[in-house]
Amino acid sequence: MDKLWRELIDCGIKSVGTPEKEKAEELLFREFQKISPDAYKLEFTFEGWGVTNIPSWLKITAPKEMELETFLFLGSGNGAFSGELRLIGYNIVWNMYYWDRYGVFRDGKLVAYVSGRPKGRLISQTLIEGNSELPHLIVDEKTNRMIKELLEKGEKVMVEGETGTYTKKDMRGCDLVLPLRAEAPEAGKIIICAHYDTMYNTKGAFDNGSGAVIITEIAKILSKGKLRKDIDFILMDAEECRLEGAKAYASCKDISDVDYLINVDGAGRGDVLEVWCGYEPFERELIEYLQEDEIFLQKVYKNPPPPGSDHVPFYERGIDCCELTVNDQDLLHMPEDDYQEEVLENMKRLLPLVLKVIDLH
Ligand SMILES: [Zn+2]
Repeated sequence: MDKLWRELIDCGIKSVGTPEKEKAEELLFREFQKISPDAYKLEFTFEGWGVTNIPSWLKITAPKEMELETFLFLGSGNGAFSGELRLIGYNIVWNMYYWDRYGVFRDGKLVAYVSGRPKGRLISQTLIEGNSELPHLIVDEKTNRMIKELLEKGEKVMVEGETGTYTKKDMRGCDLVLPLRAEAPEAGKIIICAHYDTMYNTKGAFDNGSGAVIITEIAKILSKGKLRKDIDFILMDAEECRLEGAKAYASCKDISDVDYLINVDGAGRGDVLEVWCGYEPFERELIEYLQEDEIFLQKVYKNPPPPGSDHVPFYERGIDCCELTVNDQDLLHMPEDDYQEEVLENMKRLLPLVLKVIDLH
């Protein structure tokens, strides 16, 4: 497990449409092919997004000049801007996190957006409405608080900034699929998935190198024995880009025969296992089933399953699903999400738990 994980991390930042993402695709596809010759690629196109080599920056020019640490929203528009910063409300990230939302106004026009994470360090996130024509920048809790205080004091806050981004109408994406078949036909089917792409600012060891490696290891283990049910293992592309890989799979394949889906995203540090789960009868069954489990003594069930990962397009089509994560909000979408021992230890804990859930029914 360690070796493949390191190789995947070493591919680099695996943002959609990059050569590094394709390198990871080849690495993982070779692993799938070693397990079964039935492994195949499901290619699709989508409106992609990426960063150029123009660095993005943001600064306050008045009342006092200050450089601000910033990341882009995935989906941010490209270009330079300046104007007055005003609080306008919230950016509801993935429909679940309320971030303060500021507009940059110039001559009565809104020319850029800045969003402040209300709690925690600087991370990148995705614009869920789609790619924008306007620059969208992010600041952390401390900067957000500082800006808010200035505005509350009645100060006129002027900013300047620039973003380096591009969009591509027909970006190529590729899900990797490994079907393993049960002895008895008509025994039912499970999907186990994990995304292998990353945000544009991180190698994503935890999010989601950990999940991709866990499910590949599980495929290896289960391919050696007899299966109770059919299982389709899917390594999804473009999760960070509005779940495009999962949407492509769920819309072009017949998933009506799927009993339930397990999405692993991913094994961060800590002892709390989050289970994002629906529909309720399935959640109930899972809660009862995992009562005696001692791998993770602390479990938090979230129902309906929050919308930030690849289970969503399946859940929306009525499929029972659970997303399993040791949710590490101090690593997620940060450059610091790199190799670390604690993540590897939790990958070794999460693997047997996923195996257990495969045996649910
Ligand atoms: Zn993820």
